[in-house]
Amino acid sequence: MLKGKTALVTGSTSGIGLGIAQCLARQGANVVLNGFGDSEGPRAEVLAAGQHAGIRVAYHGADMSRAGDIEDMMAFAAKEFGRVDILVNNAGIQHVANIEDFPAERWDAIIAINLTSAFHTTRLALPAMKAANWGRIINVASVHGLVASAQKSAYVAAKHGIVGLTKVTALETATTGVTCNAICPGWVLTPLVQKQVDAKAAAAGVSGEEAKKILLGEKEPSMQFTTPEELGELAVFFCSSAANNVRGVAWNMDGGWTAQ
Ligand code: NAD
Repeated sequence: MLKGKTALVTGSTSGIGLGIAQCLARQGANVVLNGFGDSEGPRAEVLAAGQHAGIRVAYHGADMSRAGDIEDMMAFAAKEFGRVDILVNNAGIQHVANIEDFPAERWDAIIAINLTSAFHTTRLALPAMKAANWGRIINVASVHGLVASAQKSAYVAAKHGIVGLTKVTALETATTGVTCNAICPGWVLTPLVQKQVDAKAAAAGVSGEEAKKILLGEKEPSMQFTTPEELGELAVFFCSSAANNVRGVAWNMDGGWTAQ
């Protein structure tokens, strides 16, 4: 379905970004990976997912908190593949503390990585998408783009912000073949959430398994984690022709979290 297209997924060396990259590769898209840590393992996994379609996979290690790095990454993607057809803004970090204890430096980092980076990638990707009259921008927001939780001020502010950016991008492209939508996951058991599971286990003096049940029980009626693969399949749907006129939605996949 996506043969000949190129997808750039930020923060795709781990977790949800890696899952989305694999699903897009399975549909035949070339992929530009980004993120910290080992890139060779993720690269091999994504190549394997798209092997049947003969895809190419590249990697750029841009730090998404730096506008200059993002400009380098977008120029690199254009040079390697001609243009970015599918942009998945996924890189994100978390910090949990009450507002009065929240380190200002963590606030700045969360806003930069979880929100401002998507402004930069979007502004740099749009001209070529508009010229081709086809493009997909998928912002990985969160249920925290729709509702709040205590101790997550920067994260909730950034995620509400990216839902707003999604709507503006959708309006500015509404008469073109470019669409922009957001995905709003509930709990997904990735390294980002494992840290919160470990903190809960330590604070409550319970096992990791118990801590997972407590976290799910507080918010997610299904008592199930959403998986990166399920989110990847939603991204594939947004890339399909069936979604040509799906514009500016914030689609939750959250086990009923925001239905309450
Ligand atoms: P993760 O920690 O597994 O992956 C985060 C990715 O972002 C990694 O590849 C990491 O290297 C990269 N990254 C972090 N800082 C970066 C930077 N400065 N520059 C470039 N890359 C950077 O986390 P995840 O759970 O897969 O989260 C991915 C996205 O999904 C985030 O935006 C997160 O807010 C969102 N999300 C996660 C959950 C969840 O339950 N895990 C729920 C809702 C939304």
